[in-house]
Amino acid sequence: MIGWGVLKGMGVTLRQFVGTYPAGRRLLKALRLPEGDGIFTISYPETKQQHAERFRYFPFLVYDATPDNLRCVACKICEQECPPQCIYITMAKDEQNRPLKTNGRTFPAQFDIDVAICMSCRICVDVCPFEAIEMDNRHEISTHGRGPELMFDKSALLRSADYFQQIKPTEAATVNARLAAKAAKAQPPKPAAPTPPAASASDTGGASGTTTPPPPHA
Ligand code: SF4
Ligand code: SF4
Repeated sequence: MIGWGVLKGMGVTLRQFVGTYPAGRRLLKALRLPEGDGIFTISYPETKQQHAERFRYFPFLVYDATPDNLRCVACKICEQECPPQCIYITMAKDEQNRPLKTNGRTFPAQFDIDVAICMSCRICVDVCPFEAIEMDNRHEISTHGRGPELMFDKSALLRSADYFQQIKPTEAATVNARLAAKAAKAQPPKPAAPTPPAASASDTGGASGTTTPPPPHA
C-alpha cells in the first residue's frame, strides 16, 4: 500500500513518544504493544552515552605493538579515493629520493587529515589494502578554531590495534582474520620432504628371492 512505510515510521515515533511517560508505558502494556525506550535525555557531559559499535566519527591510523610499527605504507590510495580530498600523505624518503623503510615497510613522513572537511564516509577504510586506517568513536574534539586545530597530523591520528579491538571488537575480529589469512598466504611454501634413497640390490637381498617374482606364464 502506498504510504504504508510512512505510517509505520510515524507509528514508531508515536510509540517512543507515548513510552516516554509512565502513563503512556502503562497504556502500551495494556494494548500489548512493545514499550520502546521512550524519548530521553542525559546529563551530558557528566553522563556519557554508550555508542553502538557501528558508530563512527573520524579515521585513525592503526599501529601494531609500538607506534613505529604503522600498518600504513603510504600507498596514497585513500588520499586518491577520499571524496572531499581531505587526506594529505607524503612517503618518507632519503636524500636520493628513495623510499625509506621501517619494519620492512615504507611509511608516511606526513599523514594529515583535515577533519573540518572529512565527512566520515569511511571510504578511506574500505579502500585501504593494509587494514591501516579505521574509523574512531571519539567525538569530543570541538575547538574554538577552524584552522590548524582541526588538521590532525600523524601523531594525532595514531591508535593501537588494541584500541581498535576495544572500541569495535566485531570489526577488529574480521580484520584480524583477514590479516592472518594474508600472512598465511605470504608464507614461503614448505620444502618438499626428502625422498628416501632407492634401495640397492644388496639391501633387498639381491636376486636371491626377495624381489617381486615375474608373473607366471599362461
Ligand atoms: S572518512 Fe571519507 S571524507 Fe573522511 S578521510 Fe576518509 S574518505 Fe575522506
Ligand atoms: S592508510 Fe592504507 S590506503 Fe591510505 S596510504 Fe596508508 S596503506 Fe595506503
